[in-house]
Amino acid sequence: MNDPQSLHDLSYEELEQFITADGIKAVHAHSLWRLLHWDASLLEMESCQNLLGPLRRWIEEYVGEDKRFFLDHPEQVADIRSSDGMTRKFLLKLRDGQTIETVLMGYDGRHTACVSTQVGCAMGCVFCATGQMGFTRHLRPGEIIAQVLHVQRVLRRDYGKRLRNLVLMGMGEPLHNYDAVMRAMSVMADVRGPSLSTQRITISTVGVVPAILRMAEEKAPYNLALSLHGANQAQRSALIPVGKKWRMEELLDACRTYNQKVGKGIFIEWTLIAGANDSPEVARELAELLRGIDVHINLIPLNPTEGFAGTATATQAGLQFQKILRAAGYPVTFRQRRGIDVAAGCGQLKSERTKLTQSSAEKLQPAQSAPN
Ligand code: SAH
Ligand code: SF4
Repeated sequence: MNDPQSLHDLSYEELEQFITADGIKAVHAHSLWRLLHWDASLLEMESCQNLLGPLRRWIEEYVGEDKRFFLDHPEQVADIRSSDGMTRKFLLKLRDGQTIETVLMGYDGRHTACVSTQVGCAMGCVFCATGQMGFTRHLRPGEIIAQVLHVQRVLRRDYGKRLRNLVLMGMGEPLHNYDAVMRAMSVMADVRGPSLSTQRITISTVGVVPAILRMAEEKAPYNLALSLHGANQAQRSALIPVGKKWRMEELLDACRTYNQKVGKGIFIEWTLIAGANDSPEVARELAELLRGIDVHINLIPLNPTEGFAGTATATQAGLQFQKILRAAGYPVTFRQRRGIDVAAGCGQLKSERTKLTQSSAEKLQPAQSAPN
């Protein structure tokens, strides 16, 4: 038998092909697709009884652990709420035991899911807890979709609300896992399923130039956010090692191409780090650098992480930075760091949990041999 496959990895057309090949009418693909992307746990339970006979029998025969298809339905191993009640961070365990972070943010009644695209990250940004972990593996489309389904389920159950926005700002670099991310996003936007507006989906990248150009070429309908963090080549690559590979001029050219081909602006993400990229001179240099590019700038105070000695910019300096950019004609917003007490920085919950598990394991199992 072939390796089992996730039903959540499939496109609508693939799902339809699989069931029709087994003699089920194509129209049944619609009911199955809706259930899969509404609440996959329902397929594991009695409510499956509501489905018409042939489809129900197909599910019973082929869907489940050790069968031809499985469902992506990760186990929640932590659910941590911020003290202001506006942010919940989940640690989800995948089938191979790896864990990823997914966040639900509820500011201003606009509920947003922040999802991961990889286990760890290969880009190594010095200030980022995920970057400090290194890369383990890409997520499959179904594993990305399952995080959104998890947040949707919590929103429905605990708040009676629907998900409005989706941001790919969790662990990992989305454009390093391009095909899986684009497959997952097209499922999220599918009107036969979750039907999230493409205008409310934002893909955040560290600046993978070939992939930005590919998005431009394909006229990908999602919002694009670029983590810039430096106003010149040296400043940027000191924080973002891959800035040496995809250099500033190339990156800005790719932004212009994107503006032109897609006809949309780009969100510039700027993590403010005291003394590194937050002075009035840097703000002026940034204003010059971005001249002629259609952007909206988001300023984000640094979340301190253990592997990085930098600290967040003081409020006054941050406001001054914003004022200079505004005076130069840019739309600039300040992103609040309200979730800080739930370890809101990407990757921070996982690294804290890993440390906790390691330290309890150390207590339980004293070292067998002396370290060399
Ligand atoms: N890999 C993508 C998306 C995930 S990171 C990217 O880098 O854009 C999402 C955002 O969080 C990025 O803008 C990143 O620079 C920022 N970020 C990471 N660690 C942070 C920290 N400790 N404090 C503040 N922002 C951080
Ligand atoms: Fe990866 Fe983004 Fe973290 Fe950089 S900031 S290490 S690209 S997740």
